[in-house]
Amino acid sequence: MEVKRRIGRIDCIEIEAKSVLNRVRGMPFDWSINPYRGCYHQCVFCYARRTHTFLEKSGIGDWGSLLYAKVNAPAVLRRELASPRWRGAHVAIGTATDPYQPLEGHYKITRRVLAELARARTEAHLITRSPLVVRDRDVLQELSRAAGVSVCISLPTLDADLARKIEPTVAPPRQRLRAVRMLADAGIRVGVAIAPILPHLTDDEIGLREVFAAASAAGAYMAWHTVLNLNEVARESYFGFLRAEFPSLVAAHEVYYRRKYAPKALVEDIGARVARARRGNTLRPRETIAAQPQRVQLKLF
Ligand code: SF4
Repeated sequence: MEVKRRIGRIDCIEIEAKSVLNRVRGMPFDWSINPYRGCYHQCVFCYARRTHTFLEKSGIGDWGSLLYAKVNAPAVLRRELASPRWRGAHVAIGTATDPYQPLEGHYKITRRVLAELARARTEAHLITRSPLVVRDRDVLQELSRAAGVSVCISLPTLDADLARKIEPTVAPPRQRLRAVRMLADAGIRVGVAIAPILPHLTDDEIGLREVFAAASAAGAYMAWHTVLNLNEVARESYFGFLRAEFPSLVAAHEVYYRRKYAPKALVEDIGARVARARRGNTLRPRETIAAQPQRVQLKLF
């Protein structure tokens, strides 16, 4: 049975999930867990907005205001992890929603999911933009001891004004760096995802170097990047943003994004800038996110 609650300016529908572990194909990890559907953060570039259309909801108007909480997820996960069919593969948490968006302060579903993974000694890799993750240092330490865990905090820029425009409800960059420091101090493997890099907005070498340096200074052990890609819903969201905030960039993006992915030349050009920007710090690249790198690269939005 679904229960609809109004929390602040959002509607949250409490749902009973039939399964929690989702088999993933074509990605560098085998299983994913998303405790929520939709995301209050409403990042303008969000690749996961498209998932709302699977529910016949809008990935533009409903994505940040009509959210779903899988309230039975910890209990279902316990059953799934106890199944003889479960082989103990690595699990990625937060591939299609932010597991520490504000709803998590109320429901604590992600926290209880982590506890179940620790109980079942199942390694996990979590990605978020939210400093709320530091609340769960105790359970992350427990999972770290039991099986291993890494946390990745997404931080595309240190420019607080730009961050406010592209990730409207996410904590400012400095707060995210503080969260990196607190996790590192707690002994948790923590990295930074410069993701996604936005052409002409966050792709300058100096800005990238500053992000790498700040991540390293905060205690991150690794950092990786992705370049913006736009499925049909993300495209509508991102072009709406450009038209409102940076209209002079619209024409260039119409050329870059004739398809979902940016052209190879642009991706390589940004990649070369990233390689120069990360020189001189000790951050490991994405391949070393965990002990078995071929299983656990997190290439998300
Ligand atoms: S990019 Fe992540 S944090 Fe931003 S809206 Fe999408 S799921 Fe939420």
